[in-house]
Amino acid sequence: MAKRMQSMDGNTAAAHVAYAFTDVAAIFPITPSSPMAEFIDAWAANGRKNLFGQTVKVVEMQSEGGASGAVHGSLAAGALTTTFTASQGLLLMIPNMYKIAGELLPGVFHVSARAVAGHALSIFGDHTDVMATRQTGFALLASGGVQEVMDLAAIAHLSAIKSRIPFLHFFDGFRTSHEIQKIEVLDYEDLGKLLDIEAVKTFRRNALNPEHPVIRGTAQNPDIYFQAKESANRFYEVVPDVVAEYMKEISKLTGREYKPFNYYGAPDAEHVIIAMGSVTDTAEETVDYLLSKGEKVGLIKVHLYRPFSAKYFFDVLPKTVKRIAVLDRSKEPGALGEPLYEDVKALFYGKENAPLIVGGRYGLGSKDTTPSQIKAVFDNLKVENPKDHFTIGIVDDVTGTSLEVKEVIHTTPEGTIRCKFWGFGSDGTVGANKNAIKIIGDNTDYYAQGYFAYDSKKSGGVTISHLRFGKKPIKSTYLIDEADFVACHKQSYVHQYDLLKGLKKGGTFLLNTNWEGKELEKNLPANMKRYIAENDIHFYTINATKIAKEIGLGGRINMIMQAAFFKLINVMDIDQAVDLLKKAVIKTYGKKGEDIVKMNHEAIDKGISSLVKIDVPDSWKNAVDEKVEEKEKPEFIKKILEPMNKQEGDDLPVSAFVGREDGSFPLGTAAYEKRGVAVEVPEWIADKCIQCNQCSFVCPHSAIRPFLLNEEEMAKAPEGYSTKKAIGGKKFEGLQFRIQVSVLDCTGCGNCIDVCPSDALVMKPIETQMDEAKNWEFSETISEKKDLLPLTTVKGSQFSKPLFEFSGACAGCGETPYIKVATQLYGDRMIIANATGCSSIWGASAPSIPYTTNAEGKGPAWANSLFEDNAEYGFGMAIAVKHIRERIAELMNELLSFDLPEDIKAPFQEWL
Ligand code: SF4
Ligand code: SF4
Repeated sequence: MAKRMQSMDGNTAAAHVAYAFTDVAAIFPITPSSPMAEFIDAWAANGRKNLFGQTVKVVEMQSEGGASGAVHGSLAAGALTTTFTASQGLLLMIPNMYKIAGELLPGVFHVSARAVAGHALSIFGDHTDVMATRQTGFALLASGGVQEVMDLAAIAHLSAIKSRIPFLHFFDGFRTSHEIQKIEVLDYEDLGKLLDIEAVKTFRRNALNPEHPVIRGTAQNPDIYFQAKESANRFYEVVPDVVAEYMKEISKLTGREYKPFNYYGAPDAEHVIIAMGSVTDTAEETVDYLLSKGEKVGLIKVHLYRPFSAKYFFDVLPKTVKRIAVLDRSKEPGALGEPLYEDVKALFYGKENAPLIVGGRYGLGSKDTTPSQIKAVFDNLKVENPKDHFTIGIVDDVTGTSLEVKEVIHTTPEGTIRCKFWGFGSDGTVGANKNAIKIIGDNTDYYAQGYFAYDSKKSGGVTISHLRFGKKPIKSTYLIDEADFVACHKQSYVHQYDLLKGLKKGGTFLLNTNWEGKELEKNLPANMKRYIAENDIHFYTINATKIAKEIGLGGRINMIMQAAFFKLINVMDIDQAVDLLKKAVIKTYGKKGEDIVKMNHEAIDKGISSLVKIDVPDSWKNAVDEKVEEKEKPEFIKKILEPMNKQEGDDLPVSAFVGREDGSFPLGTAAYEKRGVAVEVPEWIADKCIQCNQCSFVCPHSAIRPFLLNEEEMAKAPEGYSTKKAIGGKKFEGLQFRIQVSVLDCTGCGNCIDVCPSDALVMKPIETQMDEAKNWEFSETISEKKDLLPLTTVKGSQFSKPLFEFSGACAGCGETPYIKVATQLYGDRMIIANATGCSSIWGASAPSIPYTTNAEGKGPAWANSLFEDNAEYGFGMAIAVKHIRERIAELMNELLSFDLPEDIKAPFQEWL
């Protein structure tokens, strides 16, 4: 049968195979695994059939604990059952995992491995979650890339059925779960042929059934529990052979060779890395590079991690190996080493001439691991006393664990086209790039890879798409460090980020901008001009924002930029590209009506015809940087927030977090961001305003506020700072009222305009309102006058400074106005227990903290525990505070019984 190649991500690949072998899926969503369950659910809704000719029964439970309970019950009753999870979700499944394994039930868990929240939440990838399940009795199978996910997902299901041991199949969260690759799709007919149908029948016969009942899950005493546990050993002993056999079958079917441990590199290698997961692809690329330099190096890719088979390990390890570096993507504080390292060490214990073995950590929370870092690991093996317990990818200047990258290497195979896109969250850039990969991957002989990096804003943040195309399968599982093409979809980014870092000499830069001619010359930063001129960059501009507006697409510039990309990148005939883009538009927007389709088709045509090639003058080589006046800022802002916001957080050393080891961050940092993300912002029309303060009440970002100025303050107001006589009774006499917009914090959501009862606000392009930034700075110096009206009224509450401002929540968020008003009422006395979810992301995404303090330095003390335990977490806080207060009251009462001066007694009595 001809190979079916298709572009998809790791989650889709796992779901495709899982569906075939699944009768029942019990699910609960958790990032980054959720798409797997969503696909299964959608396919079941469409009536897709599994290998047994039935549609999968999908049940969504109330938590991961519930999902694993349902998996256990469903398996016990004879249905092949699957689930999908990650991180804390997997940890919630652990109690049932012991049960499932203990009862030899062949369930399969597909896990997009993710960090487990500790000092901070991380939704990104590492193996900490999977490592916490080592003892459960599940077999653990690791995939390194999207194709492997497809292939090894099948091995997991087939082996579970045959061996009766449940399998946990894992791959790296985001790096693999969300990376799009052009891969071969396994056919259900082929998979069906590999299924051990007799084992399936045995499994079903063994199910709980009143026709032939058994009792399972007894309570056992010290007399037999231990022996009964050991009686299952023989089932584990055969797992490596079962897996190896199925790997051979899949290898025959696909031509891709799989073993419990795969070796890659020189047959006479002296230095070898051992690792599992997506880093193994990067390591393969690095091994190729080093082999080409004549080095004797290699790599062992661990697929079957549990049961850990010495036999299969030694089958592939070259006899010549003298030194080994083991890489773990997890951290086990206090252990002698990380799990894989300890396993490898144990393999060699007592062996003669055992190689020297060192271990290190990499990639926690999706930290990128590059070929240069892998080379540093090999370099470490070359020195007389290699560093043990090292780290790569960070600079640890506190405990000195990190390996220095002495040489930056580029290992991407010749002919690979690498493209980077700087987009603005929700502008459609990521969607457009996913589309581009599918068009190129599915319609040319190019392999394609897409990976998408986001910042921590709920929307309106920066997105960076990394796309690679090449004639060979792409193994570069790291961010693009050397690009052929860079596109910037938002003009203001030229001042915020180092967009051209890594753009190669002679590369192409496409900028969406409304600057033309002299204005472009004036506005481009000098360092960018120098880079373009010195590196012979082909520089193009397009005014996609204007085109999108004219066509009627609003802010959706994605189709225009995508068409421009196809025109410039030249991976396929442009007429064919246009045709495919237009077909994709019909597929995506067809149901939304002809007008939408027409608009997008026009966008494609204009994206191609409106490109402007800039003739770069030689004078740009000598462009001089403008002097920027440095404002007074706290150390945290200068040393942590600003580098992170410039996308340079990866360069922060460990010492930057000394004093913050417990994860504590300061309040009020969001106020320093001044993102300026709105295209249009409200302008206040004083004459029409009735001073109701409703605009301020509904603003999700606290970016529009009423201010009351006394005479003294009025005297200091900057020019053009319009106010009107304050109304509201006697207390307001002598005061002037003003509504002030913080244009650089506004997201342009329009909520304030919608609610204003007297048309006193109108949307204006942000460029016309930039003077308001200065006015905002002045308004912030005005004293708070919150005692003039009751705080419990809409108008009165808004004269109180919100202790929650400028969050990265989505524009128009419906949650944040509530928390904002709560802080206006009693933020100086709040402790917040915040469940994990949307509100923990807009509430505390480092480094941007919207919770802030009043003039006395008081404000909400905020903390987040987990997702499912927040009521209990908050309850714990409440009982602790109550208990401590009771003790204070006891002490005060005791003191009051003494003869104390009145001025000491009075505050005690008041407090009591
Ligand atoms: S447009 Fe939205 S974010 Fe901007 S001030 Fe109005 S309500 Fe606030
Ligand atoms: S909602 Fe309109 S009328 Fe009311 S304070 Fe705001 S701008 Fe003035």
